[in-house]
Amino acid sequence: MSKLDVALLRHPEKRSISDAPLLARPSWIRGKSPTRSYSETRSVLRKRALTTVCEEAACPNIGECWAKKHATFMILGAVCTRACAFCNVETGKPKGIDLGEPYRIASAVKELGLAHVVITSVDRDDLEDGGAKQFRACVLAIRSSTPQATIEILTPDFRNKPDVIDILLQAPADVFNHNIETVPRLYPKIRPGARYFTSLELLAQMKKRNSQGFTKSGMMLGLGESNEEVLQVMDDLRAADVDFITIGQYLQPTPRHAGLQRYVSPAGFARFADIAKAKGFLMVASSPMTRSSYHAGDDFRALKIAREQAQAQN
Ligand code: SF4
Repeated sequence: MSKLDVALLRHPEKRSISDAPLLARPSWIRGKSPTRSYSETRSVLRKRALTTVCEEAACPNIGECWAKKHATFMILGAVCTRACAFCNVETGKPKGIDLGEPYRIASAVKELGLAHVVITSVDRDDLEDGGAKQFRACVLAIRSSTPQATIEILTPDFRNKPDVIDILLQAPADVFNHNIETVPRLYPKIRPGARYFTSLELLAQMKKRNSQGFTKSGMMLGLGESNEEVLQVMDDLRAADVDFITIGQYLQPTPRHAGLQRYVSPAGFARFADIAKAKGFLMVASSPMTRSSYHAGDDFRALKIAREQAQAQN
């Protein structure tokens, strides 16, 4: 079955979503065309049979990121146990765990010469640990083969599975990222398998247990949220002591995904950035093309400097 056929099938949790026509994109939503370095990145990934969220989520930044040899690895397969209404990743019954995957990722990191690595995964509610041990294995494999690389993990909420934080902290990443995605009112429609306060609690606990690590979370605009609700999410994330917030434009993958409700202008994103900074985030990335992993390496370096400056002032 082709990817298009899969996209056109409707998962039971997505059957309540009516078709929503795709809106024309404004001039500021533009991806860059692939270059030669893009092909080199693709070849490094293909030869190791690795999956990226860049391709699975049809990210508009792929031309730019891959040209810079920056890709976000997606572990634990390309099939997700949840059916979020915004997401282009296939929903279904995932396969078993690929024990060679951490080593192939580590070898790709080495060949690409990555200074900062981002690893994410599909939701694996079928696994006892939600996939936490595979994240740990990837961090350990990369630390062993490229010790100078910094690592960011962008995880699912693990649905309150026991010991997850203990497992992840046996090999702590430099950045723990978990996306809040949208405002709590929209969760039943947009993230039906998730709970807003579970996500906040995971972020808060991770910071409490590893205060030296950075925490990061992101949300999309255009799913039907109001500006006031966005500000409330910022406050909730600050209450969970999250260091870094990313805010980007939701882009509807197909007519069968949640309908896009608004395009926020670049100036609108800049206003949200100003407010987020005023609310005390160490670092803010807010623009139409911002994604969790967009410019993640540059942002990590800026994040470290921001913390040093904040500590110097105290
Ligand atoms: S923004 Fe993230 S997901 Fe998109 S192409 Fe860049 S690295 Fe991949």
